[in-house]
Amino acid sequence: MVPQLDSYFKEVDGLQDKFIERLREAVAIPSISSEDERRPDVIKMGEWLASQIRALGGTVELRQLGKQPGREHLELPPCLLGRYGDDPKKRNVLIYGHYDVQPAQLSDGWATDPFALSIDDKGRMYGRGSTDDKGPVLGWLNAIEAHQKAGIELPVNLIMCFEGMEENGSEGLDDTIRAEAKRFFKDTDVVCISDNYWLGTEKPCLTYGVRGCNYYSVEVSGPGQDLHSGVYGGVSHEPMTDLIRIMNSFVDPDGTILVKGISDLVAPLTDDEAALYPPIAFTMQDLYQSLGSEVAIHEKKEDALMHKMRYPSISLHGIEGAFYTPGAKTVIPAKVIGKFSIRTVPNMEIHEVTKIIQKHVEEEWAKLKSKNTMKFNIVHSGKWWVEDPKHWNYTAAAKAVERVFGVKPDMTREGGSIPVTLTFQEELGKNVLLLPMGSSTDAAHSINEKLDKRNYIEGTKLLGAYLHYLAEEPTK
Ligand SMILES: [Zn+2]
Repeated sequence: MVPQLDSYFKEVDGLQDKFIERLREAVAIPSISSEDERRPDVIKMGEWLASQIRALGGTVELRQLGKQPGREHLELPPCLLGRYGDDPKKRNVLIYGHYDVQPAQLSDGWATDPFALSIDDKGRMYGRGSTDDKGPVLGWLNAIEAHQKAGIELPVNLIMCFEGMEENGSEGLDDTIRAEAKRFFKDTDVVCISDNYWLGTEKPCLTYGVRGCNYYSVEVSGPGQDLHSGVYGGVSHEPMTDLIRIMNSFVDPDGTILVKGISDLVAPLTDDEAALYPPIAFTMQDLYQSLGSEVAIHEKKEDALMHKMRYPSISLHGIEGAFYTPGAKTVIPAKVIGKFSIRTVPNMEIHEVTKIIQKHVEEEWAKLKSKNTMKFNIVHSGKWWVEDPKHWNYTAAAKAVERVFGVKPDMTREGGSIPVTLTFQEELGKNVLLLPMGSSTDAAHSINEKLDKRNYIEGTKLLGAYLHYLAEEPTK
């Protein structure tokens, strides 16, 4: 029963100051992928990471991805393809993470310099990238180092894929994964990604799905220019009146989707799946807190969780061309564009959903008998991803969580999207697991991003323990 873990854990505890210094060094490199002038720092960060891995005895290729499409003055940061161990008798785990970060400036409202790791008396380590995703990426390196120090062989081979453009559309990543699926990644048995968060602050989770998103717009135009309602009100078809009727036809105030045919596409809830929700460490109070008020649609946490994780939803986002500034202008806008999206779940296929939505919009439009012009557009789309949470990749991770934290993990799905999960699943055909290190209060992408010392150190233990359980987990 994986006896070596105790000495590994002891080394992780003994090395924690060194691991925190490693994080401090990483945070100090402002690798913001979406700011042109920081691009050299992103590249520097990739090189720093490569040198860390090489120092631990791993091999690294910094795969150059060329110029950024459409912005040819910018070099894309390299995709780090690394390996640690190549014993053919061992299983191969592909680990993914990213070394770029979101923008951050002290003037945004940070309490401390975002690129100088600052640790408060509660062990909260503040700094941009601490939790997203430098801490988790370094967690893997820490795990290797603590194994070496403990004199324990890593029980699996690691195949690394660390990118530098995650916060900026992952430019070049899909092409790299596709190109390397049958080469660098070909021996992959399972994939593990540490780049999301626990649902709360106390209990770890394993994430086995994310919803997809289809985003649409409806454009209504007619008059040659904006009109005055005193002169033309009651005389002309008004684009805004038409658009509001269309926008009003998608969803009820209780969230019920009114578009015929959508609910038929949703995979039925099985008893097995239903059993996953009640144990999740989450209360309606947590929900109210994150909403900033008690405006939840549902009364029970199970219902709220299922509607966030496994049912579709339609949201209305905005109207371009509407008169929205303060005051009382008597304008009739000549052209308005309504924007809305649907979060998709198994088994909703992107094109099928679009066909149904478009048909619905056209039928609603026909009912209006308007002489205006309506155009329906798909703005962008991304598919949902879901895995079998009973796969040995998950059961191994669950055992590791129990060993390190003494509790069974929450089995969760995310409401938002993490596109790389789907790319790995589709291109490699292997099981993908999201194994988060940070907690719900880490404020990734926000000001005062942090990672708790406990999450970093116990998280490092978890990543290492996972590899051991993975090595011996029965595959059937
Ligand atoms: Zn991230």
